[in-house]
Amino acid sequence: MKNNGTQYGFATRAIHVGQDPEPATGAVVVPIYQTSTFAQDDIGVHKGYEYARTDNPTRTALEEALAALDNGHYAVTFASGLAAETTVLLMLSAGDHIICGDDVYGGTYRLFDKVFTRHGLTFDYVNTSNSDQVAAAIRPETKLIWLESPTNPLLKLADIATITQIAKPRGIRVVVDNTFASPYFQRPLDLGADIVLYSTTKYIGGHSDVVGGAVVVADEGLYTQLKFLQNAAGAVPGAFDSWLVLRGLKTLAVRMRAHEANALAIARLLEEHPLVEQVIYPGLPSHAQYELAQRQMHGFGGMISLVLQGGETAGRKMVTRTKLFTLAESLGGVESLIELPAAMTHASVAGSTLEVPAGLVRLSVGIEEEEDLVADIEQALV
Ligand SMILES: *Cc1c(COP(=O)(O)O)cnc(C)c1O
Repeated sequence: MKNNGTQYGFATRAIHVGQDPEPATGAVVVPIYQTSTFAQDDIGVHKGYEYARTDNPTRTALEEALAALDNGHYAVTFASGLAAETTVLLMLSAGDHIICGDDVYGGTYRLFDKVFTRHGLTFDYVNTSNSDQVAAAIRPETKLIWLESPTNPLLKLADIATITQIAKPRGIRVVVDNTFASPYFQRPLDLGADIVLYSTTKYIGGHSDVVGGAVVVADEGLYTQLKFLQNAAGAVPGAFDSWLVLRGLKTLAVRMRAHEANALAIARLLEEHPLVEQVIYPGLPSHAQYELAQRQMHGFGGMISLVLQGGETAGRKMVTRTKLFTLAESLGGVESLIELPAAMTHASVAGSTLEVPAGLVRLSVGIEEEEDLVADIEQALV
């Protein structure tokens, strides 16, 4: 379809926007345009493509579909989630100040703290679950508020609409890393955010077979700036990787529903279990921000964090005892994964204000049979 499919529902847009049959051959699936350059009829006269860093038709299809799913107008895709983050920060200049959540993906903190501070950007890490703390951290030179919601790995939420209302009148832009919820369960642009960011490696790709990133925006000026930086800095995804992400995207709706149903069953089991001290899942009424989750999200996703009665020792034992939940970093794929963030995904925040509890166990609940996953968790808790 040529427009962004606003008359259709989410699952329909995921399969059709940007993905009309290819005109030359009728191929139903968008081809992998594995080419670095495009023939020109005359100098500067071409069919919209010149050089594949600037644009590639497979990537265009993915970007159109992603833009539609977030109710945005434009998407820009990257070679990884961190490449997307880097490119967003390249909009800023030395001296600019960024407010960032104090519970974010470990690699985000590493990029900000170890790379961009050297280039003159300054960061404050605050509890973005408390909108007043965000407001209090604003300085005259604040240019960006960086939110993750739900956060990785503590699954805290930020009130996106409230924070956006604080930021807008001051000309501060709000970025939401929406990797955990995916556009199926949360659409930050609808809540007033300026930029939605994804590691498409996770739920959007969904099959643990590709690394990628994306940003989605509604504002044309912002898009022009990001598109310029995407081409200028060059961290673009290849045609095959774009194709893999697009292939994953088609089933995002059905996968997210299955992730959530399984996660809810496991969260309820954990909550009842005598060896479990705390379960964190936004879909449980016991979550500190359950009311906000219901208001802001369309569902609660597939990520669960927990702390066992036996602390770190028990957590370390649990992650090696599961049979279906594979001990591995990453998340959002069809297969269930289990990990210990303090020692694995979040090792880079050790000793910082972002340090996570040593005994915290994180589950990425996959879409296997619910009863098999429940039984696997039960046998691992001894
Ligand atoms: C994985 C992840 C990233 C980084 O994405 P890559 O594709 O690994 O570069 C950023 N944010 C969140 C929330 C993530 O989980």
